[in-house]
Amino acid sequence: MKRALLVLSLLVLLLPLQGAKPSLTATIPPLTLWLSEIAGPQMEITTLIKPGSSPHTFALTVSAAASIHRSKGMVLVGADLEPWLKEMGNPKKSSIPLFVLADHCAPLIGPADHPNPHLWLSPRRMAKATPALGEFLARLDPANAPLYRKRAGEVKRRLEELDKSLTQQSRSLSKRAVVVHHPSWNYLLEDYGIRVVATVERNDEETPSPRRIQEILETMKRERVDVILTEPNVSAPWGRMLSQEGRGREVVLDPLAFTPNLKSYAQFLEKNFLLLKDALR
Ligand SMILES: [Zn+2]
Repeated sequence: MKRALLVLSLLVLLLPLQGAKPSLTATIPPLTLWLSEIAGPQMEITTLIKPGSSPHTFALTVSAAASIHRSKGMVLVGADLEPWLKEMGNPKKSSIPLFVLADHCAPLIGPADHPNPHLWLSPRRMAKATPALGEFLARLDPANAPLYRKRAGEVKRRLEELDKSLTQQSRSLSKRAVVVHHPSWNYLLEDYGIRVVATVERNDEETPSPRRIQEILETMKRERVDVILTEPNVSAPWGRMLSQEGRGREVVLDPLAFTPNLKSYAQFLEKNFLLLKDALR
């Protein structure tokens, strides 16, 4: 009887584990949107960067580290977007399987030792990386592998369609150049033939001097550019200042998918593109 009780209580203890879904960690919300379309209800996803914080300046907390350790796998951008992950040891020797987006998005923009990490903002590159993410999930959870592969195929097709549609829409733009606050959108801009004439913050530590702001204003005048792309969590008022002084227009885009209730990764990108298109028409 005692033995039966013991077996029963052990079974009760094991039950939640057996039913638990594999959990994954994604570093930024756009990766979660993309990943959850392929993982579906079969996996649980935790996002490390919450609205209002930046992946460039994030500090690893105890609860974030615990969440990573509980995960069956982790999806990150790479290209040094998440330098704080190094605090957990060499990512290349991680005991948790990692999917590094930058490994599937060549060629990267910028110098080889310091490429632009904002890869997730190019539907073209994300379409290319999607099958590899499907395979990554299939390896983590072989029982559901056919599901992940099927969904990855669908997401890839949707992103390719979005790329075609954005290519089409970008042909009718009357302006084809912008000033950017931060080089977030450079991949998308390059994909659709829109030139960046100046970058206000060329790196995360840069605070532009009054002289640099003056240079940017002169560039805007010379190149006849009046659109400045900024972001919701930009603390410095450069965008507003440049748009007032340069008689331009500040367009606030959302590169980290902090907008609530986004339904899909494609919808997130399209929403941003429509704001850009409206300013450049
Ligand atoms: Zn950034």
